Amino acid sequence: MTAHCPACGGQRLDPHPAVDPLRFAHDQGCPLLAAEDARRVADADYVWPIGWEPRATTDTEAALLAALGITATPHTTIVTRVSPGIIRRSFLDEVGNPISLDPAPEEAP
Ligand SMILES: [Zn+2]
Repeated sequence: MTAHCPACGGQRLDPHPAVDPLRFAHDQGCPLLAAEDARRVADADYVWPIGWEPRATTDTEAALLAALGITATPHTTIVTRVSPGIIRRSFLDEVGNPISLDPAPEEAP
């Protein structure tokens, strides 16, 4: 099952270690795209030049995680800048456990 943006219906881009896990093919006018773009710019300033920092998970991130079928409640986003051009995000629940973004087992052939 392919996940879709809850606001514009855009499909999630194929998961890949080099691609942010919350990338969707949004319509240009999608409000979640605008929020994600703004967050991406803010995160680029937040963690510079490399390293990682925690911050509160945004409502947009929570909505996109829910679209992926994630039932845990995200609380903290870990922003990791691997290099000047690559930023990754991971998510913790309210007690600090990592939230897995692995594909659902039903996608297996
Ligand atoms: Zn969208």
